[in-house]
Amino acid sequence: MSVLVTGGAGYIGSHAVQRLLAEGHDVVVVDNLFRGHLAAIDRLRQRAKGGDRLGFERLDIGQTDAIEAIIRERRIETIMHFAAWTYVGESVEKPVDYYTNNTAGSLSLIRACERSWSHSHGGVKRFVFSSTAATYGEPPAEHVPIRENCPQHPINPYGASKLMVERMLIDAVSAAARHGRNFGAACLRYFNVAGADRTGLIGEDHDPETHLIPIAIQAALGKRPGLTIFGDDYPTPDGTCIRDYVHVEDLADAHVTVMQKMRARETVAYNLGIGRGYSVREVASAVERVTGKPIPITIGKRRAGDPPALFADPAKIRRELGWNAGWTDLDRIIATAWDWMRHNPDGYKS
Ligand code: UDP
Repeated sequence: MSVLVTGGAGYIGSHAVQRLLAEGHDVVVVDNLFRGHLAAIDRLRQRAKGGDRLGFERLDIGQTDAIEAIIRERRIETIMHFAAWTYVGESVEKPVDYYTNNTAGSLSLIRACERSWSHSHGGVKRFVFSSTAATYGEPPAEHVPIRENCPQHPINPYGASKLMVERMLIDAVSAAARHGRNFGAACLRYFNVAGADRTGLIGEDHDPETHLIPIAIQAALGKRPGLTIFGDDYPTPDGTCIRDYVHVEDLADAHVTVMQKMRARETVAYNLGIGRGYSVREVASAVERVTGKPIPITIGKRRAGDPPALFADPAKIRRELGWNAGWTDLDRIIATAWDWMRHNPDGYKS
């Protein structure tokens, strides 16, 4: 199959590209390289199986005409849409940028899909969208673990910018179906994505880094003075927030499974998590175990918009598509991130 991957030079997108190539698909990455890394594409081309089946176009997803031309030339049937801005705090500061990049950018892609239906190959049939658990906002305790039918009330522009795309897809898919078009969409709501490719080829390289596991590892490596825990007075067993950490390889696997099994003429939503949560303290202890180094810990103030506990009920995707997270051991997940960061201390610039 020919797959267009937006944001394929980024953390999650590059792992999905690796998996698609391994499964024999042809891939074209569209990435504006604002936060993605061309080195990730180079590494995938050089060392991963099927690197010669990987195309790259430096483009913004807002360039609808150029995207439509790629769909036509490469006979694209599936779009996996990862390209997005993803920092909650930044989204509060720059909401218009988030709605422009995430919401309007996705609309541009949906428009390109719509135009492609008149192409000789029939155009795009599947749209797999990177959504987020942030669309659920702060769910009341009785909704945790979170099922897909939990009410979606995002509490920041990032979550809102993604929820609007889910809504646009529902409407675009049903309108297409009314016109007899075989177009379907899947909204994959990620929980906390972690880890790196087990072979060490690609991994997580964010600037600035805000995520707990890489920050804790940087603290263990001595690249930061320590880890500040954002609040230890939450209503959880050890007072720190609980999250569901899903391995990036499992996430990539879920995308390919969804692409193969999703149906035309409907929009589906699936939670992607392992179905159990770990507290910030548990994560910090796991990083100490894996790295064998102590992490100096300071207790700081709560971070705005952090719900006490967020973890998935992943039963729906297991039941409907047979997907299950293979990586369920926190230490093993962290070990892949540790390997990546040890061998690439400056990320892709190493
Ligand atoms: N966290 C923390 N210190 C840090 C970074 C994160 O205590 O330096 C906490 C954060 O408050 C949250 C959890 O770790 O409860 C996971 O945060 P992360 O930013 O990795 O992901 P999020 O849950 O915000 O998507």
